[in-house]
Amino acid sequence: AREILLKSRPEGLPSAENFELADRPLEAPQQGQILVRNLWMSVDPYMRSRMIDRESYVSPFQLGQALEGGAIGRVLESRDSRFVEGDLVSHFAGWRDHALLEGGGVMKIDAETVPAQAYLGVLGMPGLTAYAGLARIAEPKPGETIFVSAAAGAVGAVACQIARLRGCRVVGSAGSEAKTEWLLREAGVDAVINYKTTDDLQAALAEACPEGIDIYFDNVGGDHLDAALALANEGARFVLCGMIAQYNAGADTPGVHNLFQAVAKRIKLQGMIVRDHFDLLPEFTREMSQWIANGQVTWQETVVEGLENAPDAFIGLFRGENTGKMLVKLNES
Ligand code: NDP
Repeated sequence: AREILLKSRPEGLPSAENFELADRPLEAPQQGQILVRNLWMSVDPYMRSRMIDRESYVSPFQLGQALEGGAIGRVLESRDSRFVEGDLVSHFAGWRDHALLEGGGVMKIDAETVPAQAYLGVLGMPGLTAYAGLARIAEPKPGETIFVSAAAGAVGAVACQIARLRGCRVVGSAGSEAKTEWLLREAGVDAVINYKTTDDLQAALAEACPEGIDIYFDNVGGDHLDAALALANEGARFVLCGMIAQYNAGADTPGVHNLFQAVAKRIKLQGMIVRDHFDLLPEFTREMSQWIANGQVTWQETVVEGLENAPDAFIGLFRGENTGKMLVKLNES
């Protein structure tokens, strides 16, 4: 079975040299185990922080060991009574084409009405992140203005659409014309900013949010967070979900200048980690499946083919090469 190992710890933007493709003999499942052929694997920005050797809310990846992450696979052989051959499952042993799994973190998925890989995006961890951040921290009310950064990404695109369904005015930022067009035409966002062609992000944001910002869903940090703080209304809620602009940055990267606004405007800033909100999963799955069935939520995906190209897919996240969920396709069925 092939798998991708972490060969060295990246400094700055990761490169292909930090990864290695290895082959390992495929073992037969023991009692209580299942053997799965992976069809899809996810690459996610948080994996960058697991490549640093420091304790955080998740443990660091070890050098010379296979990486891990969300994946969808088909059961080839089962010695666990809860699964039978042919079941589609979602699990956490990505970055390899076959996986030997104990039942604990393995979940059966239903791909009747949505493609299986949706469970790595809109109906999976990124979708739940958007849903939980809005439900638990932002608490959107009709008529409020929400700003979402990395808005055409996996989390951002879902956050935009849920906020729209909750009656907000939605402003999104993204790094290409194709992305901003999709946000306007398909995702129903009210105003967009292409931050790469804007000289003055704060001025562009002020123009897009004439009544200020009530909610900021932060996926980027840095200049985006700073601009949002300057334009925040009194009592604004900031969902601090991710700060991708800083994941590859050194200590000399410019920081946030407008943080004092949190004091002056009584802004509630709150960080979130999706795993604290797994209790929302049943409610999220019910509501999101309904929105998808009604055509009220849509999504995009960027697919890279082949396990050997998984490192490139991951590095592409930091270059904005994905629109919507970045996925790696490993096998056809
Ligand atoms: P995306 O699908 O949004 O992919 C990353 C996108 O970020 C890229 O496509 C790119 O789009 C944008 N980007 C990359 N570098 C920069 C930069 N320097 N400045 C501005 N934008 C940049 O990833 P996800 O939806 O999976 O994740 C989005 C954020 O949410 C990340 O910060 C992630 O860490 C966080 N997250 C947090 C979770 C939690 O539990 N707190 C759970 C899941 C995700 P563009 O072309 O627009 O630049």
